[in-house]
Amino acid sequence: MSEASFVFGEKPIQIESGQGVTLTGSRGTDYLDFGASYACTPLGHSHPTVTEAVQEQAAELTYVQGSYPVEARTELYDRLAALAPGDCEKVWLCNSGTEANEAALKFARHATGRSKIVATMQAFHGRTMGALAATWKDEYKEGFGPLAGDVEFVPYGDEEAISEAVDEETAAVILEPIQGEGGVNPAPAGYLQHVRDVTDEAGAAFIADEIQTGIGRTGDLWAVEGEGVDPDIVTAAKGIANGLPMGATMVKPWIAEDPGNHGSTFSGGPVPCAAANATLETLVADDVPAHARDVGAAFRESLEGLAAETDTIRDVRGRGLMVGVEVKTGANAVLRDLAIEHGVLALPAGRTVVRFLPPLTVTEEHCQRVVDALHATL
Ligand SMILES: *Cc1c(COP(=O)(O)O)cnc(C)c1O
Repeated sequence: MSEASFVFGEKPIQIESGQGVTLTGSRGTDYLDFGASYACTPLGHSHPTVTEAVQEQAAELTYVQGSYPVEARTELYDRLAALAPGDCEKVWLCNSGTEANEAALKFARHATGRSKIVATMQAFHGRTMGALAATWKDEYKEGFGPLAGDVEFVPYGDEEAISEAVDEETAAVILEPIQGEGGVNPAPAGYLQHVRDVTDEAGAAFIADEIQTGIGRTGDLWAVEGEGVDPDIVTAAKGIANGLPMGATMVKPWIAEDPGNHGSTFSGGPVPCAAANATLETLVADDVPAHARDVGAAFRESLEGLAAETDTIRDVRGRGLMVGVEVKTGANAVLRDLAIEHGVLALPAGRTVVRFLPPLTVTEEHCQRVVDALHATL
């Protein structure tokens, strides 16, 4: 631990290495990573294909600015255009989720000539000024204002509220197809299509923040695809380069900017691009999303079985390998016990939800170990 660190509350476990689903601590202890990598390693830690792509690219060309085409970036633009939902075929690359959303909000305002943003209660979209303004929790915002104005929050999943909030002054609705930080809250059936209809009618952009749900996590490459919904803007980050910093804002042609209107020095750096190409190619070739769907369904079924057996679980939610378990005892005590007593690392989502975001390559055996650990803990 470093005395100089002030942003993160550091955990008492120093991680030395990672392979697949396993993280190894400095005392030689192995941990099952069901959350420590925050959805950023869909293929597992130190995946050989990604590692090789990174090493080769770093040796050949580590960086050149985005105006000079390089093969890795061109390949990634084309790959994302082909893989993006619907016609979101214009791609902006950046380094993180919040930057991807920041760009999405800017692009939507510019394309519509409007400023109002509609976001949802419990939403999380990032920590920079614009994305933070569309984030719900006051805890994240207190003392940092004034933030970008003109954001209206509506209850997530409430069709009537969104119909009322979206009008001719609305630039965009931004939401997560399944709220992550907010408690693993899947959109109710029909809600996303309703948002699509309402934004279409008002001429507003529909931004799907797939930073946590995307890249196969929910059993489809994109959660909106699983719902058959076609947004104007989709943002991705976290797992897109299997652990290297990368974000992407994919937009329909009517949203796309003229060159020069937005930018970032590190946009589409060759090394993260090489990592993203290797990640996405492997993910698609091995049909990892289908694996996530099947293993995730079995995992949730076991968890529901456990919920029926004990009276300490209030709810099991999610899709694919984005899973939330609402516990009556408070999430932090459970997480601590899982880590220290059972070597299972997971995440909170609010005070009462234990969230699992493992690599998408986990097996049913890994999941069963987590269910057994949770059983013992509860
Ligand atoms: C993590 C996350 C973000 C922010 O991404 P950063 O890379 O941390 O900036 C935004 N939206 C959602 C849904 C996220 O899960």
